[in-house]
Amino acid sequence: MADRKFRVVVAGAGVSGLFMAETLKRAGIDFAVYEKAGEVGGTWRDNTFPGLFVDVLSRQYEFPFQPNYTWSRKYAPATEIWAYIKKVARDRGLTKFIRFNEEIVAARFTNGCWHIETAKGNTDVADVFICATGFLHKPLFPDIAGSASFAGASFHSARWNHSVPYAGKRWGVIGSGASGVQITEALAWAGCDVTQFIRRAQWVHIRENPHSSWRERLKLRLPGGYQREQRRLWQFINEFDQWRLKPGPQREAMEQEFSSYLDYIKDPELKKKLTPDYNLGCTRIPKSDKNYYEAVQLPNAHIVKGQITSIVPDGVVMADGTQVKLDVLVYATGFDAHAYMRPMNVTGLNGTTIHEAWKEKIYSYGGIALPGFPNLFMLYGPFAPVNNVPVPLGLDQEIACIMRLIGEARARSAAVAPTAAATDRFLARLGTAFPGTVWVGGCKNWYTSQQPTPVLWPFPQSEHKAFFEQVPVDDFQFIPSRQGD
Ligand SMILES: Cc1cc2nc3c(=O)[nH]c(=O)nc-3n(C[C@H](O)[C@H](O)[C@H](O)COP(=O)(O)OP(=O)(O)OC[C@H]3O[C@@H](n4cnc5c(N)ncnc54)[C@H](O)[C@@H]3O)c2cc1C
Repeated sequence: MADRKFRVVVAGAGVSGLFMAETLKRAGIDFAVYEKAGEVGGTWRDNTFPGLFVDVLSRQYEFPFQPNYTWSRKYAPATEIWAYIKKVARDRGLTKFIRFNEEIVAARFTNGCWHIETAKGNTDVADVFICATGFLHKPLFPDIAGSASFAGASFHSARWNHSVPYAGKRWGVIGSGASGVQITEALAWAGCDVTQFIRRAQWVHIRENPHSSWRERLKLRLPGGYQREQRRLWQFINEFDQWRLKPGPQREAMEQEFSSYLDYIKDPELKKKLTPDYNLGCTRIPKSDKNYYEAVQLPNAHIVKGQITSIVPDGVVMADGTQVKLDVLVYATGFDAHAYMRPMNVTGLNGTTIHEAWKEKIYSYGGIALPGFPNLFMLYGPFAPVNNVPVPLGLDQEIACIMRLIGEARARSAAVAPTAAATDRFLARLGTAFPGTVWVGGCKNWYTSQQPTPVLWPFPQSEHKAFFEQVPVDDFQFIPSRQGD
């Protein structure tokens, strides 16, 4: 490949892809980002349902290279997060590197480099291929008989149909996860007739979401490192916040606090329906800014608990035979969180595809790389989501490590992949960390749905940082370029 410049291709222009793009741009590396949609933003572009707010502090959901001084609230609405991401792409001059409406459908490692193919039939060649394709990206629909027969509007929460008016409709929301809770709460307070269908109750965090005062916004602009101090403070708080990882007084206090939220519910029958029967934190905790428990007690809101057995043109039928009449049906049924870059067809050494590699179970080295797939990196791949750490902070550490590995590989004129032995060691270490955490113990969630080991990072944030700062070069194999057909 001596006749062309060292080149990186990135799939996806969400938070991860843009962070990667800015890093590559600063490093002066030739690169292109392929984005299957017509705009940046990923999650925040696709999820436009009412009631969506970021679940970490707005200020924690920032790229470290572009602070934002204008968040309107402690936890910003999704519209603001998306506007911020678009501004970053524009301000940083990243848009010119992005090929919009280009979905990568195949990538094959041949002759020491990645051969990329898009749905439109365009091709590219890169030394390094980075999948920033998201872990909550591919909408998941339940398999319910008769779903195609529904006569009214029906859509997934990640594809909200804004042409449907709220008023005068009987809304049904399937799902009790974070999206289902936020949508039900928003529709209920908007005065809609809304029925939420749940199979299992969720623990819900009832929180305050105040507007940012002008003083707070001003303070952030002051010289003297106020912002840096804030970051340090958050990191300290994240580090201290370990109730998910081990039993003890911190976890007991959290359980008490969350149980007390249920006291907002006056009707004992409703309270019983909404009381979870599994350990707190096992699923991602929905955040409620306008008191979900009060919202569902409004006369226009209803909770139906049980199994939906079929969907008919004018509603849904429950396992006990009752029918609920509906005009609009929202599937707040989550994502195929184990798809990662798939259905993209990724082929590594010896013709092994990603589907074959992950047939038995999903695995990775540190959530960023895979043995047998040289110079392939993932952002927020399997086991990357960290406990309570905001996504941009985790990315900072992953990307720095990927850049170091790319540098090593370039210096050796080689392609880099973790060894199978190092990957096994990483997975074994994860396996021993899960007992005692909140993620084991009977609940079903997107972390565990398809395999016994949840696809999460079960260690404190400091270990995430330490892991990526100290990734040993010996854990990697360097394959001389032009090998790998
Ligand atoms: C409803 C919802 C709320 C959330 N709230 C929070 C929160 O409050 N706090 C938090 O930390 N996290 C939250 N998350 C997690 C969120 O996904 C991450 O914070 C973050 O946005 C992930 O960014 P990403 O770039 O890795 O992935 P995504 O945002 O999913 O972006 C992936 C991009 O890749 C593109 N793409 C995918 N496949 C291809 C392909 N083959 N070719 C080309 N392009 C492709 C997609 O179109 C998309 O633009 C939430 C997720 C959801 C679904």
